[in-house]
Amino acid sequence: MKLHIETPLIESLSVGKGLAANVWLKIEAVQPCGSFKARGVGYACSKYVDNGAKSLVSSSGGNAGLAVAYSGRRLGVPVTVIVPKTTKKRAIDLIELEGAQVIVSGEVWTDAHEHAMELSKNGGVYIHPFDDPSLWTGHASVIDEIANAGMVPDAVVLSVGGGGLLCGVVEGLKRNNLKNVPILAVETRGADSLSVAFLADKHIGIKSITSIATSLGATKVAEHAFNLLREHRIISHVVTDRDAVNGCWSFLEDHRMIVEPACGASLSAVYNECDALQDKKNILVIVCGGGGMTMSQLEEWNRYVT
Ligand SMILES: *Cc1c(COP(=O)(O)O)cnc(C)c1O
Repeated sequence: MKLHIETPLIESLSVGKGLAANVWLKIEAVQPCGSFKARGVGYACSKYVDNGAKSLVSSSGGNAGLAVAYSGRRLGVPVTVIVPKTTKKRAIDLIELEGAQVIVSGEVWTDAHEHAMELSKNGGVYIHPFDDPSLWTGHASVIDEIANAGMVPDAVVLSVGGGGLLCGVVEGLKRNNLKNVPILAVETRGADSLSVAFLADKHIGIKSITSIATSLGATKVAEHAFNLLREHRIISHVVTDRDAVNGCWSFLEDHRMIVEPACGASLSAVYNECDALQDKKNILVIVCGGGGMTMSQLEEWNRYVT
């Protein structure tokens, strides 16, 4: 069962207006549950349920957990989401609204992840937030849609947390004969696990997440994402939290939509006319979205984030 929607692809005259390129936005913010996660998580959950899964387990208090909760509701199977203590009440409320059971456990994501793995031994299927080939295959549909629309980008801009979206976009480019299209992989400082691994040329991670862009908060990217650095033209780019918030704010003013800093990070790279985009003609920006964002949160961050 297809659980995501085909999203709008719109040209932007305001995002990156100083660049020579046409800038096209793939608006994943309008997916049910607010982010592109509906694609990969929806695809994976649907596949596992077809194969006999009787319940689903997630370890994410963010968009991945929300997407598993949404998928479970649509597929008619119970969902348990284990979240760390740092998870905001609003995130828990949104997951519960989808009908999932939320269990608060542990200080950080790895604690919740271990608890979820344990729980899945009793029959439930664990849906990893970024490190699962089924997830990548589902995320890849975002590129099928732009290819079907006749768009041939010469750069794709996207945000990287654990690298699930990155793996999916590379898969999508490959299966649409676009494998030479470079990707600008954007992270915020303090959630820059891909950048750190890229610079070290080793699959290492970071100690802790200090960025406000919690949806980019994987201390280590998926091994496949790291390996892709050698196979595909991927340009790692790190922005500040302030850039990311500015990206959200400008996008709200220009396109009347509210997104998380995880998404504002990618937008800011285009707004700030990042060097790697200077020679491009057709830029595709994956506007990854974010279901947990509110106006008051954005206003608060806009006041104090440096
Ligand atoms: C999950 C998520 C990301 C990061 O995706 P990964 O697959 O973990 O790299 C970026 N932005 C938003 C809004 C997300 O929900």
